[in-house]
Amino acid sequence: MTETPVGTAITGPRGIPHYRMFIGGEWVDSDELYELINPATEEVFATAAKGGIAHADQAVAAAKRAFESGEWRDTPPLERAAVIDRVVAAIAGRIEELGRLGSLEGGAPIRLSTALSVGFPLLHMGHYADLTRRYEWERAAPVAGPVLSASVIRREPLGVCLGIVPWNFPLIIAVWKSIPAIAAGNTVVLKVDEKTPIGALELAQTLRAAGLPDGVLNVVTGDGETVGAHLVAHPDIRLASFTGSTAVGREVGRNAAGNIKRTILELGGKGPNIVLDDADLDVAVDGSIYAFLLHAGQACESGTRLLLPSSLHDEFIERLRARLGTLRIGDPLDPATDIGPVMSAEQHQRILGYIEAGRKEGATVAIGGNVPTGPGFEKGYWIEPTVFTDVRNDMCVAAEEIFGPVLSVIRYDSVEDAIKIANDTEYGLSAGIWSTDIPRALEIAKRLEAGSVWINDWHNISHNLPFGGFKQSGNGRELGPDALDEYTDPKAVTVNLAGGLANRPYGLVLGTPPGA
Ligand code: NAD
Repeated sequence: MTETPVGTAITGPRGIPHYRMFIGGEWVDSDELYELINPATEEVFATAAKGGIAHADQAVAAAKRAFESGEWRDTPPLERAAVIDRVVAAIAGRIEELGRLGSLEGGAPIRLSTALSVGFPLLHMGHYADLTRRYEWERAAPVAGPVLSASVIRREPLGVCLGIVPWNFPLIIAVWKSIPAIAAGNTVVLKVDEKTPIGALELAQTLRAAGLPDGVLNVVTGDGETVGAHLVAHPDIRLASFTGSTAVGREVGRNAAGNIKRTILELGGKGPNIVLDDADLDVAVDGSIYAFLLHAGQACESGTRLLLPSSLHDEFIERLRARLGTLRIGDPLDPATDIGPVMSAEQHQRILGYIEAGRKEGATVAIGGNVPTGPGFEKGYWIEPTVFTDVRNDMCVAAEEIFGPVLSVIRYDSVEDAIKIANDTEYGLSAGIWSTDIPRALEIAKRLEAGSVWINDWHNISHNLPFGGFKQSGNGRELGPDALDEYTDPKAVTVNLAGGLANRPYGLVLGTPPGA
């Protein structure tokens, strides 16, 4: 097979680009393959090796060998940070190319797949490199108790870490799952989603070129229920970091508990977006659209429940209608496009099922609700931005994560009501408030049960802030000043400087010390 210039792909058995797995520093193929489908055209634009249990075991063994060799674990933090810096520089030179691949495999509009899907991970990697340089890998602890002793607290890597990556932001989440783990001296197996393997494979290749030893980062494909579940339960893996739905997250938690594995679970959300009666409506209307419609609503921290004061409700809906009417839905590769298709035929059916269920429950489709037709929409998984009004918080369109371009609008009569409705959900990933009265908004923010609360903003996932969920949106945090804590264990090492065991209660075991 000949190498083609399409990143890590080769020309595959069907004469189109083909992606293999990356295990122990080598490209590994499989007899079975996945078709990678462009969600805008339904065209199979590439294939990928379909990994099985044996590939997963091979990847864990490679990662374990690489960890035990000590080559990477014992590389000084400054040098580990330098490898990450080189990856940032290499990827910064490929933003257009990687953004285009991201649009092909995931349907995100090209502005989003370049600026956010590649731009964000660059910032995040820079942050992890910076943390690696500044982290207290070892620090002296104060002397405690009657015995003269010196202690150090060392932060040590855990061993082999597993990252399970969903399809919605494959490069960003591959970075979150691998770079802090690697920065801390661990080795990693990434199990990527079968629909979107490209970002993680490009990352692995770039890390290798930047000097990461073989086996430190391994990327496998495979079905979640088999390969993913097998990896989560694998006895040689010390930490399982999973991003995906809450339903699968529960199963990951159960499987990881079998060998007391540490977990980081970044799960679903149903973000409440509260507009206060003093909000700047121009900003709040745009912001509410941004909150629910980024990547056609396929972002876990989207604001999908819009809580409007009854006094503003009708005017706000009319403004939403007018503004949504200006947005362009269509070809993700066209820079003028605002909204692309949803990910897959399965998601398309699922979202349309929710739109139907919302209607049946008595909610009103105030805007959208249809599949666009006409030129450009003959193929692909398209859904109009859809706004439900007359929604009660116990309807399925308010209670369940739809993961599509659907907004559920709920009226409220007092701020107390709004807070109650906002918190009346099993999720707790994100929440937002639109107001010109910042002290008032800050008081409300304190009472919202969510890992991220934005005031007059949304989707601002900053590298220096922890990101993760309250309640059933998960546990653990990614990014933020303490990101490396998740990937290290503290070890207490104590030296007795007293020259003997005087003053110790060892007499409890050994009786009176000689000569006492
Ligand atoms: P999903 O839960 O179906 O799958 C996620 C990943 O898990 C895939 O790689 C899949 O192959 C794998 N998987 C499936 N079953 C598994 C099992 N039993 N054991 C181990 N792995 C398994 O989710 P999805 O549909 O790919 O992604 C959408 C979901 O992800 C949404 O619910 C969204 O809210 C969530 N998400 C959360 C965050 C966050 O940071 N909180 C970010 C992005 C997406």
